Amino acid sequence: MTTTAHDITYRLEQKRRVQADFPGPKSVALTERRKAVVAAGVASSVPVFVADADGGIIHDVDGNSFIDLGSGIAVTSVGASDPAVVGAVKEAVEHFTHSCFMVTPYEGYVAVAEQLNRLTPGDHEKRTVLFNSGAEAVENAVKVARLATGRDAVVAFDHAYHGRTNLTMALTAKAMPYKTNFGPFAPEVYRMPMSYPFREENPAITGAEAAKRAITMIEKQIGGEQVAAIIIEPIQGEGGFIVPADGFLPALADWAKDKGIVFIADEVQSGFCRTGEWFAVNHEGVVPDIITMAKGIAGGMPLSAITGRADLLDAVHPGGLGGTYGGNPVACAAALASIGSMEQYDLNGRAKHIEEIALGKLRELATEQPVIGDVRGRGAMLAIELVQAGSKEPNPELTKAVAAACLKEGVIILTCGTYGNVIRLLPPLVISDELLLDGLAVLAAAIKANA
Ligand SMILES: *Cc1c(COP(=O)(O)O)cnc(C)c1O
Repeated sequence: MTTTAHDITYRLEQKRRVQADFPGPKSVALTERRKAVVAAGVASSVPVFVADADGGIIHDVDGNSFIDLGSGIAVTSVGASDPAVVGAVKEAVEHFTHSCFMVTPYEGYVAVAEQLNRLTPGDHEKRTVLFNSGAEAVENAVKVARLATGRDAVVAFDHAYHGRTNLTMALTAKAMPYKTNFGPFAPEVYRMPMSYPFREENPAITGAEAAKRAITMIEKQIGGEQVAAIIIEPIQGEGGFIVPADGFLPALADWAKDKGIVFIADEVQSGFCRTGEWFAVNHEGVVPDIITMAKGIAGGMPLSAITGRADLLDAVHPGGLGGTYGGNPVACAAALASIGSMEQYDLNGRAKHIEEIALGKLRELATEQPVIGDVRGRGAMLAIELVQAGSKEPNPELTKAVAAACLKEGVIILTCGTYGNVIRLLPPLVISDELLLDGLAVLAAAIKANA
């Protein structure tokens, strides 16, 4: 066991180690077994099978260990086996694994709702509903908004990602791999231009002006009073870790309020201390009408939620919301423990600390490497956008090569972006400084070697 300066105890040694025969024989054999039985549409970005994971480290079945800069896509912020989460899950599962909250309710669900109502922005009266996945939370936020407003239209943005179900595919911007040939899609979804500072034609455009551009288009193409909801990721995830210009989100939220439109912040990826605040909207003091949550919420157990204005959520008739597994008791226990660890370890502070370390390193690297077009993000949700040197032309080939080179050295990094040219960093917030610095050094070397 090793302990960091932040009092976090790790069960597994926090060190990367990749043997020469990577991927090893056990992973290769499992990959063969998998190919025979698992549908090809489910792709994995890393060719090894996991045996164990803890803190900032993932062990594979062949004895390799990798620095985890992805957290299973922003899920294991408290670590993949946080002792508090593991203990709470064990305790819960020994009593009952399921009863269905819609049949026989239990305290854990109510306790999670209390926590979410407390932690989400705004001191207005709130209500919460629990589900299983991010997409399900998004679907339900839109259901509530349509019922409460009596309107149909939903506004989403360029580069948006909201999930893989029919409605959330419609809300998602990117065709391949998420939408191509999966239609027809849910109707009454309208896409508006995002504020994407690095790729603005006019780099001087302010957040307020970018909001005005979208609002004018909504008014012209839909009409403000037809719109049930505006849904937006305060920092876009899959679309490329796009941080809108300051003032964009507040201007949109203000206009939505004015028009009686439900402002939904999709914080599935950006929530739960990821950006150094409980939610990314907090950076700009925006108070959403409804907030969708999942990924980081329960230390890896499947759970999602919507929390929003009581008048909106309570507008729905009894029985109108729910689901067999939504708010599973074991997942609720994990969420309560996970939130407890976030507070105990001050993971908002840790995320800010990670930003301080990593953003500095990445900016330094960008001054030496003209293939790094942009460095951006907040807290431990950071990215670099790779381009053809001297231009803004996306460089997805280099992005792939860098991710592959990092993996060979024992660092798992994820890519994203509409143009496939963004390297995103989503380390567990409990990662040690040493491991983070080591991971960043590997990334820097991989860019130098492949640029
Ligand atoms: C991942 C994600 C979703 C979908 O969540 P699932 O649990 O995969 O259904 C929705 N919105 C955002 C912003 C996401 O990052």
